Amino acid sequence: MNPTKFFVPAFLKAINDNTEQSFRNIVSEPSPGIFVFEMLQKDFCEALLEEIENFEKWVTEAKFRIMRPNTMNKYGAVLDDFGFETMLDKLMEGFIRPLSRVFFAEVGGSTLDSHHGFVVEYGQDRDVDLGFHVDDSEVTLNVCLGKQFSGGELFFRGTRCEKHVNTGTQSEEIFDYSHAPGQAVLHRGRHRHGSRATTSGHRINLLLWCRSSVFREMKRYQKDFPSWCGECNREKKERQRSSIATRLDIFRRESESTA
Ligand SMILES: [Zn+2]
Repeated sequence: MNPTKFFVPAFLKAINDNTEQSFRNIVSEPSPGIFVFEMLQKDFCEALLEEIENFEKWVTEAKFRIMRPNTMNKYGAVLDDFGFETMLDKLMEGFIRPLSRVFFAEVGGSTLDSHHGFVVEYGQDRDVDLGFHVDDSEVTLNVCLGKQFSGGELFFRGTRCEKHVNTGTQSEEIFDYSHAPGQAVLHRGRHRHGSRATTSGHRINLLLWCRSSVFREMKRYQKDFPSWCGECNREKKERQRSSIATRLDIFRRESESTA
């Protein structure tokens, strides 16, 4: 881990300052709960891509069968399996946890303690797109490493708890995003998303699924609705609205009968 070689200076400075304001200065939040910022240096992206290519070549030549990152991607590799585990641990602890403590406190952002790190490849002879899904993570970091490509937009459709994962999308939850090399997107794992077809070139992304064992344990005992679920929130507002309407109705009838 060599932060001055890996990260762009503004990102590094914000992390060193370690205040909400320093983070707000470098991130944009184009849609609620989706944070975008410049993160990796171009040279580092290229070095990482080269390393991944070497690994893929070795896998092909040795006719080695490797674990693919998840059930949805046929291409790509688990970085933890070829020497990146310590580096990714440091990335999570020193860089992603401080940001998540500020932006994702309600889903265990300050207690992230394990990760699953992998790269995915899209384009010709690779995976083309990725269906609508949620991640097995509390917080997901998605960094575009390159290369040249067109298409491949990420689409986001609101955050949902287990119970509401298949409910409809409100218009304000619709957000599409085009990635650029070096740029990072940070979002809750439960923020529903997918990626459109990469129509030309190759798009390679680094994914870090960050998990909190504390949050997962606490969730088992939680009785009230999760504040971060868009649908739970909508239902709560609906209940409040109808209870106010009922009370107004009673009030109206009472005043009519006394009149
Ligand atoms: Zn819900």
